[in-house]
Amino acid sequence: MTSRVDVVEKPSNDKKSKTEALRQTLKVQLDYDQLTNCMRCGFCLPACPTFKITGMEAESPRGRISLMKAAVDGLMEPGIAFEDQMNHCLGCRACEPACPADVKYGQLIEQAKDAIEKHTTQHRTWVKGLRYMMLKKVVPNQKRMQLVGRGLQLYKKSGLQKFVQKTGAAAVLSAHMKDMEMVIPDGSGKGVVEQLGTFIPAKGIAEKVATVAMFRGCMMDTMFYETNRKTIALLSEAGFDIVIPETQRCCGAMQAHSGEVDVAKAQARDNIKAFRNSGADFIVSNAGGCGALLVEYDILLKDEPEYQADATWFAKRVLDVSTLLMKHGRKLTYHYNTSGETTTLPIVTYQDSCHLRNVMKGGEAPRQLLKQVSGIQLVEMKAASSCCGSAGTYNLTQPEMANQILEHKMCDVNETMANRIITSNPGCQLQMQLGVNKHGNNNEIIVEHIIDFLYDCLQRVERVE
Ligand code: SF4
Ligand code: SF4
Repeated sequence: MTSRVDVVEKPSNDKKSKTEALRQTLKVQLDYDQLTNCMRCGFCLPACPTFKITGMEAESPRGRISLMKAAVDGLMEPGIAFEDQMNHCLGCRACEPACPADVKYGQLIEQAKDAIEKHTTQHRTWVKGLRYMMLKKVVPNQKRMQLVGRGLQLYKKSGLQKFVQKTGAAAVLSAHMKDMEMVIPDGSGKGVVEQLGTFIPAKGIAEKVATVAMFRGCMMDTMFYETNRKTIALLSEAGFDIVIPETQRCCGAMQAHSGEVDVAKAQARDNIKAFRNSGADFIVSNAGGCGALLVEYDILLKDEPEYQADATWFAKRVLDVSTLLMKHGRKLTYHYNTSGETTTLPIVTYQDSCHLRNVMKGGEAPRQLLKQVSGIQLVEMKAASSCCGSAGTYNLTQPEMANQILEHKMCDVNETMANRIITSNPGCQLQMQLGVNKHGNNNEIIVEHIIDFLYDCLQRVERVE
């Protein structure tokens, strides 16, 4: 017969064994040298968006590193509070450039989240199912992503979206989902390979500048197809031959940041194989979130000696499209044409992609390109480098914190009086659109990827349709 005490004690033992199992995994996975490299100076604190919002040490990089170390050293139980503090981190890596000790915080948080995902009891069954489907079955498979793109296209074109918006049906799920529904991008059932082929030559009779292999991206190719098409058009105009390796897959960033590092590693290995014989001088990405993982494939696969040489070859060639255009492309001419509607110059402001800025060190190139556009007034917003709250799937998994961060961001945007926000990452673009809808000082503000904006401003472009 089961006593009442047995019933009460059993879950507590289970919980204890789970936290102990998590501690053991953290011990194996966390880089202890990196944990001890932190000298607790606190220089990273002002750069951290979650610390800025909460003012809590545990919500800062230094605090999270201390928690990781205390868990590994056996000084605290890595229970639910520990999991929450790690999951509240955006992974924006703004703390890294601020750190005088060069602590590799991005690697630490990825290792911690991976360990947490192996042992967490916090996910409900449907969340586990959804994660499994999306992170392991759908996102890594381009054909399935194209089905999602086709579904979105139908959703928008069939009138179903209008019906959902009119009836407020999305609010049945949550108020946040209703807001997110408003910014769903246009889908496409076909990507660049299917529509443009695997080779697009440089424009003009002058000798090509270089050969660039394009990373098409899972979301970019199925939800931002037009941006991919315009990326190719601009690169071709700037003198690059473009090859698009057909067997490439999603970069793995979404999986790596969600605690599914093994899945991300498998995708990295496949991508390296797909690009290795492309003859590329450069590998180009037009999404900061993807580029930041691509540029660290050598670090991601550091424990796989058989891949080191090829992963290093790959990582060394990766550049964001703005950097590639700025540093290596033919000089193009950009002019914003207002068609005489107004005599005042449109005000444009740029929101950094955290990963492009903090990991790829590519924060300047988009600004330099925008400065080349005549007919606009470029106004820097306060704290443009601070995260907008998108951070991969963060605005879905941590909507409250994401919203607070976004509200602060929109105050800075509103101060500039901008009527156009430019970004370099699809997640930032959607999040900023959400910000305009919810907190913009007018909802006429256009949010665009830098490539879409430059393409429209490009003079004498022969369009790739
Ligand atoms: S990655 Fe971003 S949110 Fe996380 S600790 Fe560093 S600065 Fe803060
Ligand atoms: S700046 Fe670097 S060394 Fe200083 S507290 Fe932050 S992580 Fe630690």
